[in-house]
Amino acid sequence: MTIENKIVVITGASSGIGEASAKLLASHGAKVVLGARRKERLENIAADIQAQGGQAAYRVTDVTKPADLIALVELAKQAFGGIDVIFNNAGIMPTSPISALKIDDWNAMIDVNLKGVLNGVAAVMPSFTQQKHGQIITTSSVAGIKSFIGSGVYGATKFAVRNFMEVIRMESVKEQTNIRTTSLYPAAINTELLNTITDANSLKGMNALYEAVGISPEAVARVVDFAIAQPDDVNVNEFTIYPTAQA
Ligand code: NDP
Repeated sequence: MTIENKIVVITGASSGIGEASAKLLASHGAKVVLGARRKERLENIAADIQAQGGQAAYRVTDVTKPADLIALVELAKQAFGGIDVIFNNAGIMPTSPISALKIDDWNAMIDVNLKGVLNGVAAVMPSFTQQKHGQIITTSSVAGIKSFIGSGVYGATKFAVRNFMEVIRMESVKEQTNIRTTSLYPAAINTELLNTITDANSLKGMNALYEAVGISPEAVARVVDFAIAQPDDVNVNEFTIYPTAQA
């Protein structure tokens, strides 16, 4: 059971859960390929990993653009010789009541949280199908398994990726392509995610919740590490991660 030398593409790697996962995986010998929009962040994280003796490459990536995901996977092949895992983790959470009709936020969530995951999967599927080996990890949310006031559209995108991931798993069994799928359902994790909230009341409520119970993104990184470390015939496919203090 090892992740050493696994080649792992991570989206949303410039902060929070993606950054913590990149650093933990690299410290265990994975070769990580980082994607997000903020170049300086990626540059610094890759440099930190390399300073610790790890291996990392990065590319500015907007997950709403299919060509960016294809280029990120291509970087993994060029820099490290292949791809074993994609961690579809990029996301935004501008929660608000549906009646506020923040339609720009709705569309942005569909583009990043849903289409971004589809774009990531599309970019790896030809390689995974051909090599009959691969792992797809996606950050859904507890809002992808139960409904919350204010999370009508955010939850819709996270419920959608849950279904998408499960069907990838089922079709991989049918097609005998050995693709492992892991969906993550974190609750309150202290990251930069709340910065994406544009509705003042939602932000106030979320800030209060996260200040009271939020836990560090390393909690999710350890689960990602565990899922990748399993032997090829073991697919740990769903994890819910709550702060102990969160109801
Ligand atoms: P952060 O805001 O810290 O990280 C979000 C990441 O997504 C950043 O690296 C950001 O990078 C990236 N991102 C946003 N938009 C795009 C885009 N268009 N293209 C590429 N990258 C993008 O928050 P988290 O670490 O918390 O979020 C990671 C995932 O975890 C998200 O999918 C979120 O929905 C999910 N989640 C988080 C929870 C929490 O409580 N924090 C709970 C449940 C799920 P950049 O801006 O540089 O592009």
